[in-house]
Amino acid sequence: MCRHSLANATIRNLRALRDKRHDLLFEPVQIGPVTAKNRFYQVPHCTGMGWLRPKMAAALRGMKAEGGWGVVCTEWCSIHPASDDLPHPNAALWNQDHITDHALMTEAVHSHGALAGVELWFGGASSANHYTRETAIDMTSIPNLAGHPYQTRAMDKSDIRELRRWHREAALRAREADFDIVYVYATHGYLLSHFLSAQTNRRSDEYGGSMENRTRLLRELIEETKDAVGDRCAVAVRYSVGGDDGESTALTQERRDRLEMLAELPDLWDININNYYQEMGVSRFIKEASLEEHMSFVKSVTTKPVVTVGRFTSPDTMVSQVRRGIVDFIGAARPSIADPFLPKKIEEGRPEDIRECIGCNICYTGDGVGTPIRCTQNPTMGEEWRRGWHPELIAKKASDASVLVVGAGPAGLEAARALGQRGYQVMLAEATRELGGRVARESGLPGLGEWRRVLDYRLGQIAKMPNVEIFRESELNVDEVLSIGADHVVMATGASWRSDGFGRSHPYPLDTLTPSTGILTPDDIMTGPIPDGPAVVYDDDSFYMGGAIAEKLRRAGLPVTLVTPENVVSDWCEYTAEQYQVQKNLLELGVEIKTAHSLLAFDDREVMVSCTHTEQQQTIKADALIMVTARQPNDELYQALNQRSESESHTLFRSLRRIGDCEAPAIIAAAVYSGHRYAQELDAGPDIPCRYE
Ligand code: ADP
Ligand code: SF4
Repeated sequence: MCRHSLANATIRNLRALRDKRHDLLFEPVQIGPVTAKNRFYQVPHCTGMGWLRPKMAAALRGMKAEGGWGVVCTEWCSIHPASDDLPHPNAALWNQDHITDHALMTEAVHSHGALAGVELWFGGASSANHYTRETAIDMTSIPNLAGHPYQTRAMDKSDIRELRRWHREAALRAREADFDIVYVYATHGYLLSHFLSAQTNRRSDEYGGSMENRTRLLRELIEETKDAVGDRCAVAVRYSVGGDDGESTALTQERRDRLEMLAELPDLWDININNYYQEMGVSRFIKEASLEEHMSFVKSVTTKPVVTVGRFTSPDTMVSQVRRGIVDFIGAARPSIADPFLPKKIEEGRPEDIRECIGCNICYTGDGVGTPIRCTQNPTMGEEWRRGWHPELIAKKASDASVLVVGAGPAGLEAARALGQRGYQVMLAEATRELGGRVARESGLPGLGEWRRVLDYRLGQIAKMPNVEIFRESELNVDEVLSIGADHVVMATGASWRSDGFGRSHPYPLDTLTPSTGILTPDDIMTGPIPDGPAVVYDDDSFYMGGAIAEKLRRAGLPVTLVTPENVVSDWCEYTAEQYQVQKNLLELGVEIKTAHSLLAFDDREVMVSCTHTEQQQTIKADALIMVTARQPNDELYQALNQRSESESHTLFRSLRRIGDCEAPAIIAAAVYSGHRYAQELDAGPDIPCRYE
């Protein structure tokens, strides 16, 4: 059979396999001078890699293309050193080296038949240029929007001319790097947003005043980008239609009028809203397809293809979006992170294998922290290059060893799944009837239902593996573990919340807390009865748990006070872009909030707290005190086995390891990663390569 007819036969097979209702997702779509092979479009999203880690970024994007995405874009890509977002690792197209770096990505993406897009970006008042030390410029002199003590230089005409030149030259460099789609980025509070807005743009020259004037720079950039590279590259505009919380209807209407005015100018419209909190909202507050109400009008005013996001993971929802004329492309950042092979799985008629995004936004934290991306559902995300991990493929087993995994939380489940995929004989023992450990418990908290997908995906995969056996209601002790006789034993027994006050602000147990039935932990609230009277939640952990527990208690009708030593509620939720919503939600529910206070004592009637700045003390009436402070690894079984193995003269097992929260309590993503890494590295020997960039 010649190559051509083999390809045709494969296409016929795939058509036969996939659900006919999903066929339209695999139609090609023309974008100006280029054509996408299907409707799956990975919109620009950050990776925490940027120009600092081009090999990692290229491998990550290449994996998306291998997984079937028809278009794969970069993250925000600076056109000039005057727009530098470090410590948030942005991409850049400043020079020849950057062209060479990006060519790694475009080559990887093209090798799977996908188009490569680049999101040219100029930050204006959002970038302080900490690294390059260039003076930031914007429409007028604006304080740095990320809170740094800098203001921008107000752009004069020569600055505007320079900006246009920089943009054009970056577009030419993008073409040289072999990109197929070049963006003009007009939203998300960056420079162009300020020019466009009637609220912020008070210029008196031809770039201010009327809507036409305020749109002038955007129009020029679109036209000049088309002129520079439009023969070979499509020009996309990322644009906000607004309409989100708090925006005036006049402003929203103007955004729509402007879109109508520019409707046919670019080759593609990439539509979002201004509010990151909604656009990329966590599942706790925002559900699938949430932008539709704002952007459903777009296709009625333009003939150009339209893409938007909505954390789409259901093929039926995707089909419905296209069929109803809402979008031409299914845009995705997070669903493509959780499952780079989402399109392939739909194409092959196995949507049940999709690793659905849970909407936790851990993937976004790398941007804030300044380190490469990670994902709760997909432990291989970000590890494509440095560890050579693949989200779907894994090395076959290197021995006929059997493995006993103790504990079926996220670490144990992922270890069992990946070991099973490698072909090992796996026994997974779980103390309780219910599987899932902390995920099963936490997904019962308000708004966190989608987190069950961590469990559902893994159980779905394990169910297909005859070599993985699950034993429920099997709380193992040392003798039982030994009597099983597995070659390798791995403890994934998790961790328990502490009740003794030990935590970040007191790295020692509080002796002012006498053991009391009124002192509870999140484990008690998640699994046991809710207390009757007023409750204080002491949040020294500062991620989602304190706020979620307070919400649960408040929704049960209790008067609740949340006390935290931080200056805001759920401080670390800033990294997952949900802090604002958490605090707003708690305030609206009527939770009393006491920030910058730490815990001193509790006597079953009153909680005593003190101000972290003045040390002034005060009391809060409470029947219950819920300690969200720190966790204690459940590692007694591991320690006992370890001790036993050291005292015995003969070998009890080939290896004993602990993973996940039993090793070091952390986020769910860390537990999944730990389980996956254990499975990847079993029988791999001591020197496993990892390439750091
Ligand atoms: P991780 O996040 O590291 O996966 P979890 O706390 O979510 O940890 O899950 C740990 C699981 O281990 C829980 O489901 C718990 O019931 C189970 N477990 C703890 N001790 C034992 C034991 N001795 N035998 C079997 N299962 C255990
Ligand atoms: Fe989705 Fe969470 Fe993974 Fe991000 S980290 S892609 S939100 S599952």
